[in-house]
Amino acid sequence: MRFLLLLASLFASYAVSAQKINRLIRESEISRVLSALASDDMQGRKAPSPGLEKAAAFIAGEFRKAGLKPLDPSSASHLQSFSVNQFDLTSQEVLVNGQAVPKDALLCFPGSEQVNWDNRGAEIVRIMPGENAIQKLYGLIQDGKSYLVTADTSHRNQLARFRAFRAQRLDGSGTVVAVIGTDSVQSYQVNLAARKTARPYANVGAMIPGKKSDEVVVFSAHYDHLGIGKAKNQDSVFNGANDDASGTAAVIALAKYFRKIKKPERTLIFVAFTAEESGGYGSQYFSKRQDPAKVVAMFNIEMIGTDSKWGKNSAFITGYEKSDFGKLLQENLQGSAFRFEPDPYPDQNLFYRSDNATLARLGVPAHTISTSKMDSEPYYHTVDDEFETLDTKNMTEIIKAIALSSKGIVSGKQTPSRVLGE
Ligand SMILES: [Zn+2]
Repeated sequence: MRFLLLLASLFASYAVSAQKINRLIRESEISRVLSALASDDMQGRKAPSPGLEKAAAFIAGEFRKAGLKPLDPSSASHLQSFSVNQFDLTSQEVLVNGQAVPKDALLCFPGSEQVNWDNRGAEIVRIMPGENAIQKLYGLIQDGKSYLVTADTSHRNQLARFRAFRAQRLDGSGTVVAVIGTDSVQSYQVNLAARKTARPYANVGAMIPGKKSDEVVVFSAHYDHLGIGKAKNQDSVFNGANDDASGTAAVIALAKYFRKIKKPERTLIFVAFTAEESGGYGSQYFSKRQDPAKVVAMFNIEMIGTDSKWGKNSAFITGYEKSDFGKLLQENLQGSAFRFEPDPYPDQNLFYRSDNATLARLGVPAHTISTSKMDSEPYYHTVDDEFETLDTKNMTEIIKAIALSSKGIVSGKQTPSRVLGE
């Protein structure tokens, strides 16, 4: 009996919130924002490009109109600007155990114009046989420290293809040098010279100060995409409506929603990241300016414009089993038909492939919410990822479900467990 009463009261409170939310989160408004971001006018939002700058100005305008403060309250701008450096090697000389490493056994990703290591300056990491060499090396490049990486010859072909990859580096990032065919390192000397080109980038962010400034909840998505590419049926714009204008529209809708309801207990940050598609530099820059101990949770939203593999009213959460974040979200949805499911594509390593990864590596329950059918999404990374292909009604329901399910975390009643190592 008691159990039934409890359920009934939970249902009643869900029903009241659901009514209110229907007024505050509307499909017409989400379609307006989404269609603007995905329009040809934004030229596919490649980072960096004039089209992406247009998108940034549009997002900042939405935050400003809603009366939301910038990320940095002392700044007048919602843009979080920074530069990303590209280094083109002009000379390389690497000796390991006294032997010069031939060019075809070497991959260098410099983090400054001059690199000189003499048995110090880098942490030595080995890629083991059977490991995914590209994924490991890419992860090392992304984490921003200096590494001397050794890999045995079984990785040669895979790594050779990665040599053309032009790693971009945030200011202050280290250098990564990979040597193929060397097992153990007794000594090393590395001398690199590179030409630096700095490119301007910007995240767009807003915040709602909570009663607690030292407990932060982040809602995020990336607003960049692939730009303009090879034409198909005279269409050359990669509109990225689903990837990830849908997530960006969700972040804007959530910011407006939380601005209109009572002051939250925890401080809320809403951020649209740049340069996800080209290496995740926007989220890395943002994440390194957060104290991970203060970030209670991160709701990263990626591709929610199509129905999930389970149909409507459902979405999956990457890294579901790495914290109790998903379980807590679902607890707030008693009485709703909406379901959050574990990521059904674990082989794709989605948890570490999106903008939540930097904070997740530091222990933050930072997860990505998505509906994308990663094994069969027909328009993924094509010029056909257009506004018209999306289910905006279902998307609106997903955004409402995120708003309602985050209630306990926003109010400070729920605190998800931390994420433990990879
Ligand atoms: Zn994406």
